[in-house]
Amino acid sequence: MPKTAVMKKPSKTAKPAKLSKKLVYFFGGGKADGKESMKNLLGGKGANLAEMAGHPALKLPVPPGFTITTEICTYYWANRRTYPKQLRLDVEKNLARVEELTGKKFGDPSNPLLVSVRSGARSSMPGMMETILNCGLTESTIPGLVKLTNNPRFVYDSYRRLIMMYSDVVMEKAAGIEVADNKGIRKQLEHIMEDMKQKRGAKSDTELSADDLKELSVLFKAKIKEQLGKEFPDNHMDQLWGSIGAVFASWMGNKAVKYREIEKIPAEWGTAVNVQSMVFGNMGDSSSTGVAFTRNPGTGENYFYGEFLENAQGEDVVAGIRTPHPINEASRSEQSKHLKSMEQLAPACYKELAAIRAKLEKHYRNMLDIEFTVENGRLWMLQCRVGKRNGPAAVRMALDMYREKLISRDEAVNRVTPAQLDELLHPIIDPKAEAKAHVLGKGLPAGPGGAVGQVVFTAADAVKWNKEGKKVILVREETNPEDVEGMRAAEAILTARGGMTSHAALVARGWGKCCVVGCAAVEIEHGAKQFHIGGETIKEGDWISLNGSKGLAYKGKLAMIDASESPMLGEFLRLCNQVRALKVWTNADTPADSMVARKFGAEGTGLFRIEHMFYGKGSDQALFQLRKMIMSDTAEERKAALNDLFPFMKNDIKATLKVMEGLHVTIRLMDPPLHEFVPTQKEKLEELGKSLGISLEELQARANSLHESNPMMGHRGVRLGVTYPEITETQARAILEAAAELIQEGVKVYPDIMIPVVSLENEVKNQTAIIHRVYAEVYKKHGVKVNYMVGTMIEIPRACLMAGKLAETMEFFSFGTNDLTQMTFGYSRDDSGYFLKEYVEHKIIPVDPFQTIDQDGVGELIKITVERGRRTRKDLKIGICGEQGGEPASVEFCHKSGLNYVSCSPFRVPIAILSAAQAQLKAPRKNK
Ligand code: PEP
Ligand code: MG
Repeated sequence: MPKTAVMKKPSKTAKPAKLSKKLVYFFGGGKADGKESMKNLLGGKGANLAEMAGHPALKLPVPPGFTITTEICTYYWANRRTYPKQLRLDVEKNLARVEELTGKKFGDPSNPLLVSVRSGARSSMPGMMETILNCGLTESTIPGLVKLTNNPRFVYDSYRRLIMMYSDVVMEKAAGIEVADNKGIRKQLEHIMEDMKQKRGAKSDTELSADDLKELSVLFKAKIKEQLGKEFPDNHMDQLWGSIGAVFASWMGNKAVKYREIEKIPAEWGTAVNVQSMVFGNMGDSSSTGVAFTRNPGTGENYFYGEFLENAQGEDVVAGIRTPHPINEASRSEQSKHLKSMEQLAPACYKELAAIRAKLEKHYRNMLDIEFTVENGRLWMLQCRVGKRNGPAAVRMALDMYREKLISRDEAVNRVTPAQLDELLHPIIDPKAEAKAHVLGKGLPAGPGGAVGQVVFTAADAVKWNKEGKKVILVREETNPEDVEGMRAAEAILTARGGMTSHAALVARGWGKCCVVGCAAVEIEHGAKQFHIGGETIKEGDWISLNGSKGLAYKGKLAMIDASESPMLGEFLRLCNQVRALKVWTNADTPADSMVARKFGAEGTGLFRIEHMFYGKGSDQALFQLRKMIMSDTAEERKAALNDLFPFMKNDIKATLKVMEGLHVTIRLMDPPLHEFVPTQKEKLEELGKSLGISLEELQARANSLHESNPMMGHRGVRLGVTYPEITETQARAILEAAAELIQEGVKVYPDIMIPVVSLENEVKNQTAIIHRVYAEVYKKHGVKVNYMVGTMIEIPRACLMAGKLAETMEFFSFGTNDLTQMTFGYSRDDSGYFLKEYVEHKIIPVDPFQTIDQDGVGELIKITVERGRRTRKDLKIGICGEQGGEPASVEFCHKSGLNYVSCSPFRVPIAILSAAQAQLKAPRKNK
């Protein structure tokens, strides 16, 4: 038995929503009540239909229709799914205008008007809401339309489509009937149609005759009565209002709600409903329907790109049931290489469409995604919207349009989101490994970059495996909106069917996720949880690799590399650099990382964590010396160990200073609690004991004495340097001697020494005195002047409050927002992951403050620090080196707060550069 619970119940405490006076907006015949800028009220689709139909520069052929505003959706849900009284009349009035323009009448037996009823939210939610086509076909209007078109096959094909859509969308989904997968009414009707095709020996739908389709409609209606217990409505007005209600209802449908959660679209926005006179792409061979992009959305290249299907309705293109034809040569793919293009089949229509493409790009000054239908040789525009694009395409289009003088430099900078830029930094399959790999199959390149993962066949498994920490690739015949969550959880998606505008392609492109669609060689055997491809059988859990930029699938787990070599990236970053005021530095502790950051445009090093030389490859000897130092009992022992450590330290620092020639490198004195470095393995302890000439027991006792119950608040940071001045002294000497030697070699270096975890003025005074004393000695030894500064990290709320005092000694500040967030909230940065996730889920806190600066609290402390620090020292240099320094919203905050730079890991440098430029465009500041 079907259960009821698809939709959220309307709220019990419903308040009447505030409504504008005008509830319905007309468009068509060269006029429109609305325009593009009215997206909030008319939804994206409605606003753009109005713009295309009514703007003097466009006046494109748009089938007449009207838009019911998004406010009605909000009203509908706030008022137990009812409408304001005025709506019925307004709809009728507008319908009459459509009738007048088309010369047809809704429900008229001899000259019936048919309409489509479509959703349209403010921001596009591809496939997440419902559509009803051919509304108005009834027993009484069918004969008239048959007579009028002299095409009974077309009429009955349209009728069976209406029955299928309506029963599924209005009578089942909108009625709140939830059924198990494959048990829904649509599936039942599809089975009936398949049976019919088999009986008639028909391979495709188009081979069914008018009589077959007529018979189907009878069988369909009987099945609907049997399964849903209701008759399919035979009244045109009932169909219209049923459809309108179902579109509003679909706003709260499961898939729409899930999509909104992922895309962070507020439920309050609501969807508009567009009622539009039908034009038919399925009227015969001189009719067609298609989707196109004014530029290639996968690469950004400047040519018209699209696909179309003859004798079909829009749903056929998106569903990926038949392979679409290319609209022109440039759009030809591996799959469509044998098919005729629109340019070849219908040159006049193609010419008109290409002219519209040019007009639209000029008017919108952007890449657009358009839907069109040709009805008996006449072209109609059904939709246009700013097209979704992946990162590489966004960057290319921004650069091209800027060069074409279609957009300004600043617009170009604003055309790419930080997330899109991030895609350019995404991994791709190592070309060397790829060259040797055996191609399993080829499909269309629907989502950028490369991915490796274990194969799963259902969205639910993708979610489950992902939760278990596995990387998966979702392999499907095609995807549908129910799969979104699984698609999100997957590293990549591979589908057997569908084109560049199929659901999988649209969604993946929007997310910038690696995706290959229409890989016809994929044959899935669901029962056996395996698929066949290129003579191989791949089972669930097997590894495969995808190249989403070329549309290729490979067996096994190929090596991946990053794709940051693209020259477009450098060119785009140069534009950003012209705009921004905030500098971008990097957190890098090795020459290799520093080099990467420099290549991306880092203008300095904001954090070189000295202790990093004791981790990772090649650190054994330095670590051993450090451990000796830690285990020392007396200052003499410690000094001896430090002397042994010194050359390692100096060489390590020297290597990075050299790579960062000409730029500031902020070297932070040792920060972590020392016991973090104490070995746990017995052999290591024994080796250490031997070297120190003490027993294992004694060593163990010394190690135990270093134990702290709360090390993050214990003996760390500046406290180490105050209690063991020789540690600071050695570090200062290593830094300053490395610098002096480089200067002697002719290398320009600017080392800045940074003191961590400071809360007292006397701490910095104490440490600065040591540093200056060491410098005097280094100067004496080398005889060269080193341009160095001494500054402090700001990581403790007390340091923020004491900024004025600290700035008396300190020449720069750097916010360590990892610790500052930890200490401001009292959340352990290492242990808060679990509860913070829940906090975010339950909206106790809007976002994780370790990812993005908490502007209200931590941000307030930052503002106080900047203000007090600069009151003492006007030109105090201030930056940030906590993890938030590369996160777009935090970068914007730092820009607004007057910081000189943000510092982040090398791979986030481009993101920070873009975010800083966009922040400057949003809120310009003078000190560029
Ligand atoms: C910080 O606290 O923000 C910081 C950069 O230092 P660390 O992460 O090394 O504690
Ligand atoms: Mg810190």
